[in-house]
Amino acid sequence: MVKSDQVVQVRARFAPSPTGEMHLGNAWTALLAWLDVRQRQGRLVLRIEDLDPDRSRPHWTAQLIEDLHWLGLDWDEGPDIGGPCAPYMQDQRRSLYTTALEQLAAVGLVYHCYCTRAEVRAAATAPHGGTDREQCANRCWLLNEHQHLQLKLAGRKPCVRIHLPDVPVPIQFVDRCAGVVTEDMGQTTGDFVLRRADGVHAYQLAVVVDDGLMGITDVLRGNDLLPSTARQIWLHHLLGFTPPRFAHVPLLIDTDGHRLSKRHAVLSIAALRTQGQQAGEIIGLLAALAGMLPVPRAIHPTQLLGRLDPGCLCQPSVVVDVATIRAGP
Ligand code: GLU
Repeated sequence: MVKSDQVVQVRARFAPSPTGEMHLGNAWTALLAWLDVRQRQGRLVLRIEDLDPDRSRPHWTAQLIEDLHWLGLDWDEGPDIGGPCAPYMQDQRRSLYTTALEQLAAVGLVYHCYCTRAEVRAAATAPHGGTDREQCANRCWLLNEHQHLQLKLAGRKPCVRIHLPDVPVPIQFVDRCAGVVTEDMGQTTGDFVLRRADGVHAYQLAVVVDDGLMGITDVLRGNDLLPSTARQIWLHHLLGFTPPRFAHVPLLIDTDGHRLSKRHAVLSIAALRTQGQQAGEIIGLLAALAGMLPVPRAIHPTQLLGRLDPGCLCQPSVVVDVATIRAGP
């Protein structure tokens, strides 16, 4: 029990997926998450989200850690240094996700769904009066034992979905960047997947179990994940955790409006480094994009402490003029 005169220490995390080279957009989120927690004397956790075996590779994890260090960022707990909430690689935390799923199953909240992706898509686009959930996912929620058996014998591999209540479930939260957000999941996501048909736990489940068990109080991440937040808050409550505070920062986009991604190979941190860019120059560029510097100049992350105000980052995206990034010394 926390007494009123005790201040709960900020615990934040940076949770990259090792699915390719770290690019400028990842560095932007990492810098902002680092500043946000360091400004408030909190602890930063590095968690590697290598849940998807098809896309994650160990060498990308090693490269990520090297790039983050090179940029001048550090953390207090992580796969390379350990910590009280180890392991910090999702691949090694699967039993925790299984336990959480069992907890939800024990109270009758999950079910096997046999619908293929194509069926879900078709239901979502079909002209109908109800929600997608009523059209598709709910079909499996209503199956009886005999029907389950028949589908299994026919070789259909089910995913596991969580069943939302039959009444509207408006989730409201105050995002430190986006302000007040309200979402009725019955209308948006419907019953969502917690474990894929191939047995891999879904991001939505894993992230909540990890943030909950790691005592994360603050999440700062890209606003592409804003639509996931209501589901995560819902799961936090069901699993008995306190949801963290969220700050969804703008995404970096190029001048054509495309989100910076692994497609922008020239903007990978490794490539910029090879081209002779200094870490301080990259930090300075990102700081200027976030309004922490009037114009880009080489700077160390520690010199930016106190300058980040997530409340000022409320626009959906920030444009990076790729052509202006120096291609060599
Ligand atoms: N692993 C996710 C990514 O790299 C981030 C998840 C999160 O911050 O909740 O996009």
